Amino acid sequence: MRLILIGPPGVGKGTQSALLTARLGVIQLSSGEIFRKEIELGTDLGRMAKRYIDHGELVPNGVTIEMMAKQLRADDVQKHGFVLDGFPRTVKQAEALDEIMFEMGIQLDKVVSLEVAEDIVLERLTRRMGCTRCGEIYHSKDKPPHREGLCDKCDSPLFVRSDDQPETIRERLRVFHEKTAPVIEYYARTGSLQRVDASEGPEETYAQICGTYAK
Ligand SMILES: [Zn+2]
Repeated sequence: MRLILIGPPGVGKGTQSALLTARLGVIQLSSGEIFRKEIELGTDLGRMAKRYIDHGELVPNGVTIEMMAKQLRADDVQKHGFVLDGFPRTVKQAEALDEIMFEMGIQLDKVVSLEVAEDIVLERLTRRMGCTRCGEIYHSKDKPPHREGLCDKCDSPLFVRSDDQPETIRERLRVFHEKTAPVIEYYARTGSLQRVDASEGPEETYAQICGTYAK
């Protein structure tokens, strides 16, 4: 299966990607996770990406497309399929993805637009914390760690992502409406778009994604 998850920051793309990966065996390709890994490793790509991400801006199209094209061509991705999370974020990226897939001779099964009211997204993001080691996500209200500031799974310290600071969140939402909302319209025109209400819990959202997939 090959699918794309699109939605504003905080809508639950990462959570749904993880569920799809665990249950369907597809490979998760999250541009945000890949960039964060590069930043952690201190690579040239990471240093460049950090300047944009820390300000809530998008990493430029050229770099992002090149990086994702490489990921899409990996053997395990070709074998097991993928769920794209955080890519494409602009219409240019969506057009590039079409070209890459055309060259590879593959097609998308569907594009899921996760939709939720903005106040819910803000509430989710402003209370979000991640584990510095394993990447597990916590939420001070909905999913607090058992011990404050420490990961339940691996005991490592938790942190608030640099792009989850309040002023950065507002910028990310603005960028989403300006650059990524047109991507949803792009896929609506090609007919592969599925709109999903992501205002309830992860399992309800997941059931909608899969229910529609069975059609
Ligand atoms: Zn952890």
